[in-house]
Amino acid sequence: MDTAVDGQEASWHTDGHRVSLRLVKNEIIVSLVHCPDTDKCSVREVSCVVKHFIDMYGLECNVGSVYITSPETEIAWALMGDDFDLDACQLWWIPSEDEAFASWLDSKIS
Ligand SMILES: [Zn+2]
Repeated sequence: MDTAVDGQEASWHTDGHRVSLRLVKNEIIVSLVHCPDTDKCSVREVSCVVKHFIDMYGLECNVGSVYITSPETEIAWALMGDDFDLDACQLWWIPSEDEAFASWLDSKIS
């Protein structure tokens, strides 16, 4: 899996953030339901940058695919860009169970 953007390698955090996915008519609504409160996701004035981006962009910053088998899904996330200016950053998240991501993560760990 290619995780580099503009030559910059994304560093993915698998620290227990969880989202809930709800189907509302023809739309899937995503919301952050659990933040482990590590200082990694606290950036400048935003206490949880994952929540910040999900509230603002929803599924647009999801880069994975997964069968939704439970109401809550654990995600991994990566913040790209200079966090001096959050508006210029991109946050990506991906369900931890995404097949490509899971095997990529395995290969990094082992
Ligand atoms: Zn958080």
